[in-house]
Amino acid sequence: MKNVGWFSRNTPLPAQLRELEQKLGKCTVLEYKQMFGSAADVIALAKKWKVEHAVIVAPMSMIAKVVEVKDTGVTWLWARMDPVHPDRSCPGSSCGEFNADRDVIVPNSRGGSTRHHRFVLFNVIKRIDMILEPF
Ligand SMILES: [Zn+2]
Repeated sequence: MKNVGWFSRNTPLPAQLRELEQKLGKCTVLEYKQMFGSAADVIALAKKWKVEHAVIVAPMSMIAKVVEVKDTGVTWLWARMDPVHPDRSCPGSSCGEFNADRDVIVPNSRGGSTRHHRFVLFNVIKRIDMILEPF
């Protein structure tokens, strides 16, 4: 049985676990939920776990560093989560559109709006480019 790394503070959703099994067969998802210090920490753990696939939710700069290391043998996956209410009108935990199988509701913090996102699919992260020019 394959190990799949899960580098995110969010627990995998039922729909996400089904999607992984559909693509990879029966697998064991190994979760790392703490904050990770560096890209090297993430890679070291993925190697220790001997994972061929890993889902990562982290700042773009961190993901860019992780995926640019080519000798890991790890295929990094991005969970595409689309907003359920593009107008940001989610009432929160009482939302009638909440689907426990594939949704995450993040309560508003510091006056921000409640975010309600729905898992769509996993994408393979091929590369992250930062396009820079002198200021
Ligand atoms: Zn909602």
